[in-house]
Amino acid sequence: MAVGRVFDELFLEHGEPWHVENRSRLEAAVARLRHSGLWEELEDVPALPASEEQLAWVHEPDYIEDLRLICQNGGGWLGGDTVATATTFGAASVAAGSCMWAARLVAEGGLDSALCLVRPPGHHALPNRAMGFCFFNNAALAAETALALGVPRVAILDWDVHHGNGTQDIFYARGDVLYVSVHQHGLYPQTGTVDEVGVDAGTGRTVNIPLPDGALDRHYLRALDEVIVPLLRRYRPGLLIVSAGYDGHCSDPLAGHALTADGYHQLAARARETASELCDGRLLVILEGGYSLDALAHCIENTTLALLGRPPLMPDPVTPDVHPLAVARVEKYLEQAIAVHRARFDL
Ligand SMILES: [Zn+2]
Repeated sequence: MAVGRVFDELFLEHGEPWHVENRSRLEAAVARLRHSGLWEELEDVPALPASEEQLAWVHEPDYIEDLRLICQNGGGWLGGDTVATATTFGAASVAAGSCMWAARLVAEGGLDSALCLVRPPGHHALPNRAMGFCFFNNAALAAETALALGVPRVAILDWDVHHGNGTQDIFYARGDVLYVSVHQHGLYPQTGTVDEVGVDAGTGRTVNIPLPDGALDRHYLRALDEVIVPLLRRYRPGLLIVSAGYDGHCSDPLAGHALTADGYHQLAARARETASELCDGRLLVILEGGYSLDALAHCIENTTLALLGRPPLMPDPVTPDVHPLAVARVEKYLEQAIAVHRARFDL
């Protein structure tokens, strides 16, 4: 079984050390994979930049050019909490290009699956602007790569705790990409309601399951088992891409969901099983968020193990502590979302 790994030193150079989305995230993940010996078991994927022509598959040329110039001039704020530095354009181009290479290798059978340890992340990046620490939409560009190679349909499962508004927006009117997200209701960027389902050819190709504060492993797993996997079975993608954020972990400082590293192992195992069932195992896992360093590293280790078909090496040392009333509220939202999607999609 060949599992690829995307990583490049350039990913460490983007950003500022005081920013929550900083190089220590990837350093922690890589150190953990090296320590457990998993790093050596993964096949290196070429880290090459996407060309500006390729970036323009999903981004507007004016935005690409503006970002290039901003970075050439030393960087600056791009709105909200998103800051570019002199190295951001290079790092973001290589992050996108490497995910595209990995998509190509997985689509063509050179790899069974791949884990893309990239930054900056991508799922908030819109066609015409950076947003939410994201500059180029890595998952969308990977999906476009597979489509360009003749894969008829691609599915993107986004389990980052934030809604992937950029990815949803890019494919909202298209039928060749299914975008499915589980995320925290009411959190940044405030999008991703159950009623956002796509338009025109994309109608029914966007599916959101927002859950309030306190969602646990079992709630994400139920969303997969009762809505997402049945939809994937019907859609029959030729490639499954996961926008894998780990900021839903109970230790994460940016959000209020309460998953564990064991839960992320189960989610990744479900993704692998589903890809095996539907598309010869073709699976691409692309890092998005995750800001508690120990939790992020543990979750990435567990995802790697799941891709290799193995159990976790150790249980999560942290146990979520969620008030029963919050759990009851999550369950109410989940029941409602499942009922709406079941009726809508005749599941
Ligand atoms: Zn996130």
